[in-house]
Amino acid sequence: MVALIVGVAISLALGRLFYVEESRAIKLGFKSDIDQLSGSIEREVLLNLEILYALKAAVGIMPEMTPARFGTLTRNVLDRSPAIQAFAWAPLKEPDQLTDFIRKQSEDFQDFNVTETGLEGLVPVKPRDFYVPVQYIEPLADNRAALGFDLASEESRFEALSLARATGEMVATAGIRLVQEPEDQKGFLVFAPLYKIQPGAAESAAEAYHYGFINGVFRVGELVEQAVGSELRTDLLLEVIDRTNGGESLLYRSRKPSAQAWRFDDRYRAGEFEIAGRQWSVEAVPSAELISEKRGVLPVFVSSSGIILVCVVVGYFLAGARRNLQLSEAKAKLERISLTDSLTGLANRRHFDTVLEHEIRRANREKTNLSLIMIDIDFFKEYNDEYGHPAGDHCLRQVAGVLRDMAKRPGDLVARYGGEEFAIILPDTDNPGVIAESCRRAVLDRAIPHALSSIAGCVTISLGVAMTCEATEVTAEELVDKADTALYGAKDAGRNRVCRS
Ligand code: GH3
Ligand code: MG
Ligand code: MG
Repeated sequence: MVALIVGVAISLALGRLFYVEESRAIKLGFKSDIDQLSGSIEREVLLNLEILYALKAAVGIMPEMTPARFGTLTRNVLDRSPAIQAFAWAPLKEPDQLTDFIRKQSEDFQDFNVTETGLEGLVPVKPRDFYVPVQYIEPLADNRAALGFDLASEESRFEALSLARATGEMVATAGIRLVQEPEDQKGFLVFAPLYKIQPGAAESAAEAYHYGFINGVFRVGELVEQAVGSELRTDLLLEVIDRTNGGESLLYRSRKPSAQAWRFDDRYRAGEFEIAGRQWSVEAVPSAELISEKRGVLPVFVSSSGIILVCVVVGYFLAGARRNLQLSEAKAKLERISLTDSLTGLANRRHFDTVLEHEIRRANREKTNLSLIMIDIDFFKEYNDEYGHPAGDHCLRQVAGVLRDMAKRPGDLVARYGGEEFAIILPDTDNPGVIAESCRRAVLDRAIPHALSSIAGCVTISLGVAMTCEATEVTAEELVDKADTALYGAKDAGRNRVCRS
């Protein structure tokens, strides 16, 4: 039982060890997968920003921007870049330029106005220091609502364009809900500031004046889809988070958090990277299925095969022990119910006791006599010493055979009393002494060599004879005692003889 418990415990511990190791390997594999996804997403976003750089460079060498020129410049690129929602051209306008601007724009676009977000949709702008209205936008059909929208009117756009204007760098906004986008998709805008060198001025940035922005509107979901779409598993919750200045703004999430059983404890955040002045990070949470799917059968196999092996071994030993127990029980039972001595084939001690008891009662009852002869082989220890135990056994069988032949009446019983001692029960016999003497003679005549016998060169026996008296009742014990005493007498008298009690 202890072996079983220890064996099972060891198997389980081994299984657990493999399980923990496997979990570590799975987590490491998961992390490296996410690192790879993160790298792909970063590359994809930067590639798309490059298009804006190129556009900015092209705009820089254009003498004057018109809707037609803007369309020509951007349309081809937009057709090939589904992650770019729009390109917009937005000039910087002082308050006193606004009316003129609206009037000129209205020539190209009916009902043109400079707007901002009000309580009920887009409304005309309130007075402020400057405006950055969208003058041209492509593709126009999908983005008509954004035409005329003042980019300086909304906080995160204002922040980004102010920084772009101050640094001359391209600057991205935080994640924003796109006004023109039907799906619930987050996007971000990148502002590229445009400068113009005044005619005749030195070619230094300090003397160039800022006159507006080119901006790109990017769809994060589309960018992720292009970057990792084919590798994106449904049992993975992938998120792109803007973590600029320690903040946390969700840009993209591949699945609903409620869609599955996610293992949020195993959330992994790949290294941050920079996108036009903002810090992005790609993070992922595995689902329970993803982990279990990657799990092999090894830990379970180790545990279960260990347990099975232990059970088989312990079971085998238990069965063996049980069989041994059953065998020895059966043997003991057989011996108990057996009446014959297995070595000599004579009646055994148990049978002798039963018969003697039986005959004593009958003798007492029927007032008949009963005789008992106790027989002991002389110097048998020496016989064993000289010839060995197997020869001793053989000798015992020979003596037994001789004695068996001497008691021929149906009621007579020759028994092995124990060791090298025999007993003969003779009911209703007048001359037990004669029979005893015949026995002694017969054994002697058998002439079994016994070199160490100091009284003869062969095996001899000593005999003690006892007989019940018809008048007095005796017990079996008393009769055995009497015969035994007579036997001792025979021994004392020199062996190889018969003594009567
Ligand atoms: P004594 O003449 O006084 O009877 O001396 P003994 O050597 O015959 O008697 P003792 O009691 O000293 O020794 C009996 C021996 O009988 C010792 C024992 O090893 C041997 N013996 C008892 N049972 C068996 C048996 O089944 N087979 C064999 N080979 N020897 C037995
Ligand atoms: Mg003896
Ligand atoms: Mg003896």
